[in-house]
Amino acid sequence: MESNIRVTVWHEFRHEKTNAKVKAIYPDGMHNAIATGLRAAGGMTVRTATLDEPEHGLSAEVLDNTDVLTWWGHMTHHEVRDDIVERVRQRVWAGMGLVVLHSAHFSKIFKALMGTSCDLKWREADDREIIWFTAPGHPIVQGLSDHIIIPREEMYGEHFDIPEPDETVLISSFSGGEVFRSGVTYRRGAGKIFYFRPGHETYPAYHQKEVLQIIANAARWAAPTANSAKQTYGNRKPL
Ligand code: ZN
Repeated sequence: MESNIRVTVWHEFRHEKTNAKVKAIYPDGMHNAIATGLRAAGGMTVRTATLDEPEHGLSAEVLDNTDVLTWWGHMTHHEVRDDIVERVRQRVWAGMGLVVLHSAHFSKIFKALMGTSCDLKWREADDREIIWFTAPGHPIVQGLSDHIIIPREEMYGEHFDIPEPDETVLISSFSGGEVFRSGVTYRRGAGKIFYFRPGHETYPAYHQKEVLQIIANAARWAAPTANSAKQTYGNRKPL
């Protein structure tokens, strides 16, 4: 492919260090499972960054050279430095894409960009999840049929306290009866944002090829275009 999207896969990378069950599923961390899937999809240069690196691996230099950032966090949202959250938000406003995964619905960066609680219902009980596609032809579901079945996953249920999405691309049903808007898009400033639900740490969702395909498609969709960051603001003379 001629395009080369620079993707940074960010991960808190703590469950794998403290929970043998998670480590068995993701021995190199789920960030490396996601990065492997993105590299296999082609057209992307992929790096990873984790919480415990200096500046959480998200220096200004790294972010300036990132077209799309993916974000997974859960147990350490509060440990993410506010100044780095603000740095990420400024980059999104300037055109960087952001793919927010699973429990990162409660991340500081997602809440800062949404302006709502981003709360939801949940249950860890081996529910079967069916992800239905509600936006046929959308780039994020390109190459897939009209649904994905995940045999066992954590349940997330409505109401999901997010602003009305620009597009609802995916809706999940769960064997317990709940439904959830599991793939939604937003624009904030020049940046495109996609929230994608699957990926509880004790289930192998990021080894499932359709899930990785959605993340790769989302990275392509969220990548900035040539004019994304070219706006000027402030006082101006008439044409
Ligand atoms: Zn979870």
